[in-house]
Order: sequence, then structure tokens, then C-alpha cells
Amino acid sequence: MSSISTTDLRVYPSLAIVGGGLAGIAAAESASRNGFRVTLFERSRILGGRAASLFDPNTNQWIDNGQHIALGCCTELLDLNQQLGLTRFFEQKKTIPFAQIGGKHGMITPTTWLPNRWQFFPAFLTFPFLSLKERFITGLLLRELGTQKKESESESRTFAEWLRTKKVSVNTIKKFWEPFIFSTLSEGIEHVSFDAVQQIIRDSFLAGHQAMTFHIPTVPLQTIYHENTAKQLQNRGIELHFFKRVKRFLWEFQTDTETDNNGSDTQSNTQSNTQSDTQQQYTSPKIQALELADGSVWSFDYYLLAVPLSQFWKIMTNSGLEAYTEQLALERFEPGTVTTIHLWFNRRILPDEFSHCVLLGEPGQFLFCPKRNEKSERDNYEKNNNGIYHNVVISASHRLLSEHEFTSRGSFGLVERVVQQLQKTFVRSFQNKTTQLMFHRVTTHFEAVFSPNPAIYLERPESETPFDNLVLAGDWTQTKLPAALEGAVRSGRHAVQILKKLADIDGID
Ligand SMILES: Cc1cc2nc3c(=O)[nH]c(=O)nc-3n(C[C@H](O)[C@H](O)[C@H](O)COP(=O)(O)OP(=O)(O)OC[C@H]3O[C@@H](n4cnc5c(N)ncnc54)[C@H](O)[C@@H]3O)c2cc1C
Repeated sequence: MSSISTTDLRVYPSLAIVGGGLAGIAAAESASRNGFRVTLFERSRILGGRAASLFDPNTNQWIDNGQHIALGCCTELLDLNQQLGLTRFFEQKKTIPFAQIGGKHGMITPTTWLPNRWQFFPAFLTFPFLSLKERFITGLLLRELGTQKKESESESRTFAEWLRTKKVSVNTIKKFWEPFIFSTLSEGIEHVSFDAVQQIIRDSFLAGHQAMTFHIPTVPLQTIYHENTAKQLQNRGIELHFFKRVKRFLWEFQTDTETDNNGSDTQSNTQSNTQSDTQQQYTSPKIQALELADGSVWSFDYYLLAVPLSQFWKIMTNSGLEAYTEQLALERFEPGTVTTIHLWFNRRILPDEFSHCVLLGEPGQFLFCPKRNEKSERDNYEKNNNGIYHNVVISASHRLLSEHEFTSRGSFGLVERVVQQLQKTFVRSFQNKTTQLMFHRVTTHFEAVFSPNPAIYLERPESETPFDNLVLAGDWTQTKLPAALEGAVRSGRHAVQILKKLADIDGID
């Protein structure tokens, strides 16, 4: 680190952020506003983490690792986008179109003239996929979820168990609950925690007419969360280091009595991961430095680890801190898989005014035909005859698809299934027989999210650690939200709030 006087170190403590996903980006942005000198280490070549793009050589285009949409209730994410000047890269859609096999279509649009809890009421009354009785019961259940106090047993039950007590029809589950829960929580109703669903219903359906607005990227994620974000963070004086994998921490325990208030030499009274004394007699463990995969060692005042769960476990194990990770019982986390079928047709499947549509059928759950690159996509198509880009998302695909459909070798069967589903759903688009699939690609992210099941949803690791100068962030930490962009951003910002207290920094924000 650059040399700086002791007084300056206290005013501007140095902070290392490990991981440049949304949690790390949010932490960096917030920490730089709050008096930290920030250095961010990212093991890949780009920021964005899972919210990233990949290059498709067949069509010469950047496509996204899953569509990545945000709802209006993702207030911290939208605020971060605003802070970083990224809002212009999203289009907003208030209407949610639905389409089912056979060609039946419907829409839900919230009203602005009714109180929050009732904003979807008129749209719901005409929702064509449920009978009048089913609509009425669903309305009552939504209301109950909004008003019901948390019950002690709710933490251990699944949403399916709750639905069974309410005798909800199979049709309502298939046409309403499953599409909503798969797309927001990436999990099936038999596995998802009741609390997770209740939370998301309160935050979205019942939280005001803006809360269910879809914010859909109009450019590849790489343009948003790498190119433009990196520029903005660098403008704030944040040092970004790419291709820098953090391997482990060097740490030590200090005796309380021997800790020097000036922060000077404590070596003679410490135990570290390079020494072998018993740990019990020491308190106030502290990270001294981090070591990168290239062997270099970097020292900071504070450390914020914003990596996925598997990497957290690896770094802690490399650091000789298995005892700490064992306490967290990380084995309770179950990964959730998301499969995206990227399709290039020679024409748009969705009418021009729509960028997304909920698919009521199988196997696809959501169709996106983002307006992104529309001009460049048309140019590209005209020049290269590559087609118009669409993607179909299958969340919790590990529960819904056969094993061979995951692998790229066997995925052609899946592409055929999805195209058939689209043909039967958007009958008019395929009627004239000139609609053709030109290219396809299947991507499956096996650890896209974690399953928000009752064993884990409310019992996740907190940001605080036993170390005086280390905090955690990431969508898997305790945010009381599902694994998603909003949770990641909140975790990063929350971790900075804890660091501010540790560093005795008041105000700002
Ligand atoms: C296919 C797919 C679709 C999704 N769709 C949506 C959606 O529509 N809406 C939504 O809200 N969420 C969605 N998500 C979830 C969302 O992407 C994640 O919840 C969020 O991006 C997690 O951010 P994070 O910062 O916690 O972790 P990550 O994005 O995983 O970031 C962690 C970063 O740490 C870096 N790293 C790891 N180890 C090290 C190391 N040792 N040293 C240095 N750097 C390291 C990684 O390279 C990575 O950049 C989707 C996810 C996937 C995979």
C-alpha cells in the first residue's frame, strides 16, 4: 500500500474488497462514499460476477448469463444503478403478459388509483387462466399472506405445506403460484420456505404499483456491470485489480491486554495461521494480509469478502480457518440451477410492444425478447443473417429437467421441446411457416442461486465474523432475501455499515 501518515490512516482506512459481483460493486461504491480507500480484487477479467455476459461466436454477439431482471421492489439495486449512472440501460415494463399453450394470452397491469394492497385487484378479476372461484380464493390468500403475522412454526415449513392447508386447486398452483415462485425464488413450491414466499409477496404484489415494474436490461450485462461500472468506480478513486484471485488470509490472534492502542507491533503476543499455539487463550482475531494466487501479499486495515459460498469456504480452509466455517454449517446450502435457452429466430416471436412474457406450460417459464441492441441486432441480422435474439429461462431446472437435458451434448432435445412450446403458445407468429430458428445455445449455471428452503432461509451466516477487521457480503449471507441481485447489493451495503462502526466512521452515507 502507498505510504500515508498514521492520522490519515485513521481518517481514510484502507479496505480490500474481494469479489467484483454485485455485492462487491455495491460495497465498493458505498465504502468509497464513506471514507474508505478501496482496492477491489476480482479473479476474472470483468466485474459483474454472475450478472455477466458471454460471447457467442456463431452470431458474433454478447449474450447474458441468464436474463437478469429486477423488479421495482429491488430498491437498493435501483438506487445503486442510479448512483452509478446505469438506469439508462434498462427499460421499464409495468404490464406482465402471460401466454399458455393453445394460444390463450392474458395480462396483469397494476392500477395506480387503489391502495397498495389492492393495486392488482382489478387485473386479477379478469385474469383468464383461473376460474372466478380460483381468482377469488387466490385474492384472499394473497391478502392473508400480506397481513398474517409470522408464526413460530412457519420457519420450518414449505410453501406447498401451507397451500395444502388452504386446499388450493392444482390449476391455481400451475397457473399462478408456480410461475411466480419459480421466477422470483428459483425453486419449486415443495422445497421453498413459506417465509421466503411471504416476504416476496409482501415486497412485490402488495407493496405499491412500482414494486412489480420489470426493469429489463437493454444492453448486455457486460456493458452495464463491467464497462460502465468499472469507469464509475475508478472515477471515485477505487483501485480495480482483475485476474487477481485471493487464495488465503494471513491472520493472528491478539491478547486484549497486549493490544497496542496505536496499532503498533503486536507480534510477540500473537498466534497466527503460520504459528502453532493454542487458540483459546487469545481474543480479538485480526486479518493481517491477504495472499493472492500469484504469491503476492497485500496488507489493509479492513477486509470485505464478497465471493460466492464455495469460494468463501475455499479461502477460509486455505487460511486454516475450518473451525469457523464448520460453525456456519454451510452444508445446509443447496444450489439452485438456472438454464437459459438462447434462440435466434428470423423474426420476433413476441409482438413489438412486449419484451417479456410468462409462459404457462413446460419446460420454459419466461420468454424474453429484450429490446436491447434492437438496431444493432437488426443491422447484424441484415448484414450477417443471424436472426433476432430471444431467450427462454428455466429456473430450478435441476428439479424440472432430466439430467441429459442439462449437458450441452444432450441439450438439443431440450431446444426442440422449448421451440415446440413456443410454436404451440405463439401460434400466430409461427403460422405462416416462414418463422425459422437460425441458431440456438443452451447455458446452465449449476450454482446460479441457493435454494431458499426452510433449513437455510432464515439461518444464514451474518456479515459479522469473529475477526475484528473482516466482514462478509454476497447473496448467500443473511439478508432475509432470496439469492438475487437485490440481496447481493444489500449485503454489500450492510457490510460497509458494519465496517463504518468498526472503523469509528460517523455520518456520510
Ligand atoms: C443464470 C442466472 C440468472 C439469474 N437471474 C437473476 C434475475 O433475473 N434477477 C436477479 O435478481 N438475480 C438473478 N440471478 C442471481 C444473481 O446473479 C446473483 O444473486 C448475484 O449476481 C450474486 O452477486 P454476488 O456479488 O453475491 O456474487 P457473484 O456474482 O457470484 O460475485 C462474486 C465475485 O467474486 C469473484 N471471486 C470468486 N472467488 C474469488 C477469489 N478467490 N478472489 C477474487 N475474486 C473472486 C467472482 O469471480 C465473482 O465476480 C441469476 C443468476 C444466474 C446465474
